[in-house]
Amino acid sequence: MDNCLFCKIVRDEIPAKKIYEDNDLIAFNDINPAAPIHFLIIPRMHISSLVECEDSHQDLLGKMLLFAPKLAKEQGCTEGFRTIINTGRVGGQEVFHLHIHIIGGKERLPVMIHQG
Ligand code: 5GP
Ligand code: ZN
Repeated sequence: MDNCLFCKIVRDEIPAKKIYEDNDLIAFNDINPAAPIHFLIIPRMHISSLVECEDSHQDLLGKMLLFAPKLAKEQGCTEGFRTIINTGRVGGQEVFHLHIHIIGGKERLPVMIHQG
């Protein structure tokens, strides 16, 4: 995807603070962190969002989710973290290349959605 921001990060066409990469995934710090630790895990391949995932992506999705706590711990999330995947307009997705947010730090994160 020529114009996809995160594909450009994958191709090193725009800079990012990468903290991990392998053949399938990369992880880098969010440019506008919501907490002291905030990084994104993305697949190298362009998938627009969770809605576009297919059965063939099962292993990739499993790998991303299983990898999240490992990298979170490495990055300093010793007592937990929040995992967010925003999807589509209602989900507030801004970059249409699938990504998992990992957000944490030392303090408890604010309540995400107020009920009632
Ligand atoms: P979304 O709302 O799509 O779930 O989240 C997109 C995230 O990407 C936001 O948290 C935003 O701060 C981050 N982001 C947007 N542009 C860039 C960029 O150029 N570099 C990095 N590292 N993060 C970005
Ligand atoms: Zn992309």
